[in-house]
Amino acid sequence: MMLTIDKTKPVMVTGATGYVAGWLVKKLLDEGLTVHAAVRDPKNKEKLKFLNELAAKSKGEIKYFKSDLLTEGSYSEAMQGCELVFHTASPFTTDVKDPQKELIDPAKLGTRNVLEEANRTESVKRIVLTSSCAAIYGDNIDLKKTANGVFTEADWNTSSSLEHGAYSYSKTVAEKEAWEINKNQSRWDLVVINPSLVMGPAVNPHAVTSESFNLVKQFGDGSLKGGVPKMGWGIVDVRDLAVAHYNAGFTPEAKGRHITSGHNTWYLDLAKTLEPKYGANYPIPKKELPKFMIWLMGPMINKAITRKFVSRNMGYPWIGDNSKSINELGVTYRPISESMNDMFQQLIDAGILGQK
Ligand code: NAP
Repeated sequence: MMLTIDKTKPVMVTGATGYVAGWLVKKLLDEGLTVHAAVRDPKNKEKLKFLNELAAKSKGEIKYFKSDLLTEGSYSEAMQGCELVFHTASPFTTDVKDPQKELIDPAKLGTRNVLEEANRTESVKRIVLTSSCAAIYGDNIDLKKTANGVFTEADWNTSSSLEHGAYSYSKTVAEKEAWEINKNQSRWDLVVINPSLVMGPAVNPHAVTSESFNLVKQFGDGSLKGGVPKMGWGIVDVRDLAVAHYNAGFTPEAKGRHITSGHNTWYLDLAKTLEPKYGANYPIPKKELPKFMIWLMGPMINKAITRKFVSRNMGYPWIGDNSKSINELGVTYRPISESMNDMFQQLIDAGILGQK
């Protein structure tokens, strides 16, 4: 039977305060839906202010529920009456002391917690999981192992671990856990979104925790003024990603994984999009650094830039096949320069980036 989601029923979003979820919540509210926002701290006025403002301007309604990925049963109230659940919550940071506790547990046990709640909640028909391209590949060099020199939904990350690429590992084990739980029941289907690196403005620039913001901030704060590594990236705009999530929720035929990535690009090309408007006033990187220099210096600058990371990523492109997201979810991808410039300008306007 063809799946239909009743838009008069509430829709649940985990991690509604997050960067990626923000635009999805806005889209749901603008479409007139009632959003059950599962958040860690419903009393955090600063984080919720922007969501409340979006709700006030929309046809929809937002209700908050206190939930934590690591507290069993804490999504029960938020899920009541929902046919559709978007599970976006998961920590996205590389700055961790204990990767098991700070990344793997919330990602994997959190996914189990949310999906097992769906098993207990009769109304649930579909779960849209925000996984990542990090569950598709571990290092750029993995491209060499692919069937046709391009990452597709058939690929799984086999190279990350607790010790190497812990964030990517967390996303891989969480998505595998989701498919395993999905397989053991038949009431709800699972649609997975696998975004590449997300860029573009946040609905709330004042409370961002996403690593995406650190990356763009570094283009303007001088951290990269000497140059950037030669390294390929897949990039997707946060607003296009919201459309992908929304359509994954409401397109009856949607199924499986979806590489949601607008462009295959290089680190330096991201910087180049900022040069025309901001080059005169900000130390936008202008060149690529030699690999040996990053190999030598990287680990001293940032503990995430290990020698293994450098040898397996620098100098290699990132190429992903986004055709399924276009054909099945109807996503259209805006140019990278728009994502980068809108985001950079937002950091300036929010006072997060001063002038050089
Ligand atoms: P973010 O802004 O840091 O959002 C993370 C969200 O997860 C926040 O809402 C956070 O809630 C919530 N969260 C973290 N730990 C939690 C816990 N223990 N219990 C409940 N909620 C918890 O990062 P983001 O970039 O939007 O990431 C959102 C999703 O997109 C993640 O699944 C991430 O892996 C995925 N993704 C992101 C990118 C990217 O480039 N940004 C790319 C691919 C996939 P609080 O507000 O309470 O901290």
